[in-house]
Amino acid sequence: MDHATAVSNAKEIADRILAPAARQNDKEGRFSSEAIAALGPAGLLGLMLPAEVGGAALGPRTLASVITTFAEADASAAMVYLMHVCATATIAAARQGATVAPTLRDISAGRHLTTLAFSEAGSRSHFWAPVSRAERNAANVHLTAKKSFVTSAGHAQSYVVSALSPEGKTATDSTLYLVASDTPGLSVAGPWDGLGMRANASAPMILEDCEIAPGLQLTDDGAGFKAMLEVVLPLFNLGTSAVALGLCRAAVAGTASHLNSARFDHLGQTLGESLQTLRAQLATMQIDTDGLAARIDDLVDHLERPRDTTMLRVLESKAAAGEVAIAVTSTAMRVCGGAAFSKHLAIERLFRDAHAGAVMAPTGDVLRDFIGKAILGIPLF
Ligand SMILES: Cc1cc2nc3c(=O)[nH]c(=O)nc-3n(C[C@H](O)[C@H](O)[C@H](O)COP(=O)(O)OP(=O)(O)OC[C@H]3O[C@@H](n4cnc5c(N)ncnc54)[C@H](O)[C@@H]3O)c2cc1C
Repeated sequence: MDHATAVSNAKEIADRILAPAARQNDKEGRFSSEAIAALGPAGLLGLMLPAEVGGAALGPRTLASVITTFAEADASAAMVYLMHVCATATIAAARQGATVAPTLRDISAGRHLTTLAFSEAGSRSHFWAPVSRAERNAANVHLTAKKSFVTSAGHAQSYVVSALSPEGKTATDSTLYLVASDTPGLSVAGPWDGLGMRANASAPMILEDCEIAPGLQLTDDGAGFKAMLEVVLPLFNLGTSAVALGLCRAAVAGTASHLNSARFDHLGQTLGESLQTLRAQLATMQIDTDGLAARIDDLVDHLERPRDTTMLRVLESKAAAGEVAIAVTSTAMRVCGGAAFSKHLAIERLFRDAHAGAVMAPTGDVLRDFIGKAILGIPLF
């Protein structure tokens, strides 16, 4: 599969499955199993995996396009896909000796959805500092943890779980483990009823003395933090930026459609024909959206050809994208007025979904702190 085929497959799924169901799934907080079932045959679950395990071996450019395409139709499904790709990359980067090849082949074959379970009730958005600690018992480890938000909770076949290493000395001495969904002691701890991203099942999960065999330890003891920063963070920040771009494009399209169709019958004009102020706000939305697209292109270029400024771009991208998505969808709410407020349009879902980007860790605030430290030469952690 090449880039164009992947994006066209994503568009077909977005048009056929995501867009028609997005409104109802959002209303009911319903996870779209149909969307996930379609991703496998389309070759998208193993998008970035190497060909040896059946993957499409495509890069960040394709990932960004696929996620943007999904998010234009349904940001919840786009987030589910993004968390899957991030977790898959972590599994693929597993240490020597990890028995992950069957999982990777299942992912490529479209039989396996995975996700990240990093955030904990105790350390909140500081996902790099789990408070749970793995305990070693003979060859195996035992995990007991309260994971506060896990996208695809109860729907994934596996979870990439962080915990402090058994002998870890500092708050970032974490290790990553692959926990199968049928592991005794693993359970979803409550419902997901968020303001936005309502259809992605980001529920809390509990691990109660889950026994993990050595082959399912993904990183060396204490090397979880490195994997979070080097494997997960670039993809996650690129992907959340792409989700934001999809939301912005959908907001521009939805606003334009409303301005072209809603009428002042007493004036014999559409809203767009009648009010220059609305046209100007639509223009600002378009300018901001295209600016975000250019930023994402720049980040893709930095990921394809890493250089000194790559980590800074990774940090900047998500921080900026979260703000742009909130600004563009807020303007859409204002321009579309009562029609948006009364939920006649999809705009209010975009507005609610856009707010998740800034909340998801690393949050916009934390990213700004990191960027400021990086500029001043102060260690990030
Ligand atoms: C829809 C959704 C899906 C999610 N999916 C997953 C998932 O799949 N896996 C997963 O592991 N987690 C997931 N999360 C969790 C997410 O990544 C965050 O950990 C969580 O939302 C943060 O919760 P909090 O606001 O309680 O954090 P808090 O740490 O309490 O943050 C509160 C406020 O303090 C600010 N703040 C915190 N630290 C700093 C700092 N150092 N400097 C400046 N400001 C700071 C934050 O920006 C925020 O505004 C998801 C969250 C959401 C909303």
